[in-house]
Amino acid sequence: MLRTHTCGELNMAHVGLEVTLSGWIQRSRDMGGLTFIDLRDRYGITQLVFNLESNSILCMEARKLGREYVISANGKVAERSNKNPKMKTGDVEILVDHFTVLNVSKTPPFTIEENTDGGEELRMKYRYLDLRRNINRKNLELRHRMGIETRNYLNNKQFLEIETPYLIKSTPEGARDFVVPSRMNTGQFYALPQSPQTFKQLLMVAGYDRYFQIVRCFRDEDLRADRQPEFTQIDCEMAFVTQEDILHTFEGLAKHLFKTILNIEMDDFPRISYDQAMKQYGSDKPDIRFGMTFTELNDLVKGKNFQVFDHAELIVGINATGCSEYSRKQLDELTDFVKRPQVGAAGLVYIRYGADGTVKSSVDKFYSHDDLKIILEAFNAQPGDLILILAGKEEKTRNALGTLRLEMAKRMELIQPGIFKPLWVVDFPLLEWDEETRRFYAKHHPFTSPKQEDIPILETNPGRVRANAYDLVINGTEIGGGSIRIHNKELQQKMFKILGFTDEEASNQFGFLMNAFEYGAPPHGGIAFGFDRWSTILGGCDSIRDFIAFPKNNSGRDVMIDSPSAISEAQLKELGIKLALPVPLVKAQKVRFQKE
Ligand code: ASP
Repeated sequence: MLRTHTCGELNMAHVGLEVTLSGWIQRSRDMGGLTFIDLRDRYGITQLVFNLESNSILCMEARKLGREYVISANGKVAERSNKNPKMKTGDVEILVDHFTVLNVSKTPPFTIEENTDGGEELRMKYRYLDLRRNINRKNLELRHRMGIETRNYLNNKQFLEIETPYLIKSTPEGARDFVVPSRMNTGQFYALPQSPQTFKQLLMVAGYDRYFQIVRCFRDEDLRADRQPEFTQIDCEMAFVTQEDILHTFEGLAKHLFKTILNIEMDDFPRISYDQAMKQYGSDKPDIRFGMTFTELNDLVKGKNFQVFDHAELIVGINATGCSEYSRKQLDELTDFVKRPQVGAAGLVYIRYGADGTVKSSVDKFYSHDDLKIILEAFNAQPGDLILILAGKEEKTRNALGTLRLEMAKRMELIQPGIFKPLWVVDFPLLEWDEETRRFYAKHHPFTSPKQEDIPILETNPGRVRANAYDLVINGTEIGGGSIRIHNKELQQKMFKILGFTDEEASNQFGFLMNAFEYGAPPHGGIAFGFDRWSTILGGCDSIRDFIAFPKNNSGRDVMIDSPSAISEAQLKELGIKLALPVPLVKAQKVRFQKE
């Protein structure tokens, strides 16, 4: 046997026992006549001791072992004289009688410790070494438990886990598809699914009324920070349900995960409409761990000859409580912050309500003391507060103030770790107007059903139509979203028309779905959660890469296996693909591992 126990389980109850442990050498120390080795495996670390006096040959051999060597050691469990209360196994050590080197190791390119000296790129290249670090192991364990608990919860509620294909058909809506050339159908391509959306709807038509899948999805998007080209969803669909049923079922899942993973009992989640979220927080994924909601000032500030406000569609502000002492420099920093192209405000107006009751603003020229006092009242401001105001086009200004609100929360240290504030955002608009292409896009996706009461204005005022669509947001991050679906062919056709599809295009792309709707499609709806992101939030971290075993970097590359990469001329030929650009040369014939 290469081991009788793991490196994480021995304690005082095992003292005197003869054991064999196997693992990696974390570090070793020579202290006079003794050599100590910390042996590590997935479960923990146990200290091995070698005594120069009682067994000098063994001890000298042990001193030759390097970091990350794999050894198997056997000996007696003994009580430590110098206990380490920080370690689970810190009360004991192994007095080694014998060990075997199972494999040697080069010196690792970075230290495999809690705080490593390796930069991200290096750790990605040697991801298998990075994964030896405790922190990564804990993250993957949490992800595993989340998967198990998700399956438990949904299984108990009669959901069936059903797999859907990965090689599907490219469709124009949504993000860009990853495509896969078909060798057997030269010149034709599969697409990898951006989500199993249409398949799960077909499963509802097929009568499987509760489906889920923990499933990989692929989106060829320009990579924004912390996006992965392939990511995992907890994808769910239910038939014979209303929006209320879905929110209830999946709030249950969220509470179950909070309870089983973090041992936190959650109250019912608040709900807020999309419109309200935008008005109060300037975001459809508000972080409600802190207040600082918006106050609109159009009625109070117009008509005082301040052109910026007079010409603005919206004048809106927040109260940064207790920040009246912000220096000129700090205010300039905030002004620069809101003027950055990503935020896009033209400028920042402030009103300082000094602790001594004095009022000072950047618009004193236009507003009397009394005018300013009225504005302060609108914010419920107290002496010591600082009011920050933006003005301009409605949507842009709301978004900009939303970003400033988050920035202020950071600066004011309002966000405490370990606090979770989930909420549902409901009543999303069905469509979104794009100024550049001058057409409507589906806000969620083209299968989302408009609210019954808004169907009459679908053709006359599409921009105002609300959808039965909802998002689950936790701590300002969208964790999941879904909708009640259209299950009627005519309505689906109408929807495609509004989205600019010709009848022919709609039937080429989605004919299979609309045909299915003619064979007794039940009312249905669903939701999908970002599994990587949800794990990350519950793990109290920021980057989803930390919760994916083998993630891609910010340019969508896997630097460990060096992918994507060119393929050989022969492969291209077989696929009937001629590259317009010169092909980077790929050496030699592909090595085949098996005879075909
Ligand atoms: N398929 C959708 C998505 O990937 C989620 C849903 O509507 O269920 O966002």
